[in-house]
Amino acid sequence: MNKKLNKFAVLSLSLTLFLSYTPINVSAKTKATTPYGWRFPEQHSTYVINKQSKNYKYIWKKAINGWKKAGFKWEKASSSNTHLIALTQKQDKSLKGLAGIDHMRYNVSNHLIVSNKVELNKTSLKKYKYTTKQKINVAEHELGHALGLKHNSKGSKSVMNPANRTYSISKPDIRGMKKAYSKSVANLGDAIGNNIVSIDLPIKLNPRISKLHMNYSGKTHKLTLSGNTYDISELNIKYNKQTIKNYKVKKNGAKFKIILPFKGYKNFTIYSGKHLIKTISASKYTTDKPTILDAKRNQNSIELNILTKPGNIIKIWENNKPIFSTISDIPEDNITLNTNTVKNYNDLRLTQHKRGKKTSKMIKLPKLNVGETYKSIS
Ligand SMILES: [Zn+2]
Repeated sequence: MNKKLNKFAVLSLSLTLFLSYTPINVSAKTKATTPYGWRFPEQHSTYVINKQSKNYKYIWKKAINGWKKAGFKWEKASSSNTHLIALTQKQDKSLKGLAGIDHMRYNVSNHLIVSNKVELNKTSLKKYKYTTKQKINVAEHELGHALGLKHNSKGSKSVMNPANRTYSISKPDIRGMKKAYSKSVANLGDAIGNNIVSIDLPIKLNPRISKLHMNYSGKTHKLTLSGNTYDISELNIKYNKQTIKNYKVKKNGAKFKIILPFKGYKNFTIYSGKHLIKTISASKYTTDKPTILDAKRNQNSIELNILTKPGNIIKIWENNKPIFSTISDIPEDNITLNTNTVKNYNDLRLTQHKRGKKTSKMIKLPKLNVGETYKSIS
């Protein structure tokens, strides 16, 4: 008795650990065999497709056929005697942020599956413009859980990718399924009483932007953002916490281009609903401030040695008007400014500007009397 109780404890503990572990290493093998955690006694089971639209019945049937082709036989059953019920539901609290879910009941002592209820979230599949093919992929994912598969890694090209939308049943999934069913049931361990537990295996939506690119135009004072959106129906863009643009996404994965007029050096934040997708700080769209390495003030001129980047435009300003401009061609550039026409030396400021970025914030020139020199401490 004691021995059996121990076994039960170890099994539940290892299961809990596995479920709470999220792989961080995205570079991990994209083709690794899909892991499994549960199974039916045999490599087949029964299903019922609940009352729902023709369209969604078709999607579940296609997914069931997908697994049949891969070698797992789902057999149609009567509703009173089935191991799987396939539903399509409107979004409620339990489906929020999910494309679909499998509610599984299994015996913890031998990991044999008792029953499944798989659901598709009709609301989000519609809102995020899933194609029929992509809906079938989600259904295949839930059926993959229902026959015993766990999630593959985040970067995997597997139907069991935790945020799958694009992949159908693939080689890693077929290998995982075959592995799960390779042992005979006799070797799985004894079933101890009614140790049946329920778990939820969801497929989460993954709202994101890829290939985000930004370009600032000094002529129009506007920032242009471009990129591709996934699992997003509308982008809400804030500047300094104020909404400045709502952008409706036409198609999943579609390229967007948004032009944003603004003033200052505050953060942009991009939201999908309440979900923060990206923060763009000023350093991302603004040229770094130039660094003055040394300076010397002569009778009628100032000599500056500036740490910059080739191609940057250096400007000197008096009373917010540019009085000098040059394009640097070397990382440490020397500038000689004629000060004959300068009215107030202490009002001189310096900026630099890189193509595609906003001009840097101004820095003041060091305070110097005629004949004095300045050296930065580095
Ligand atoms: Zn899942």
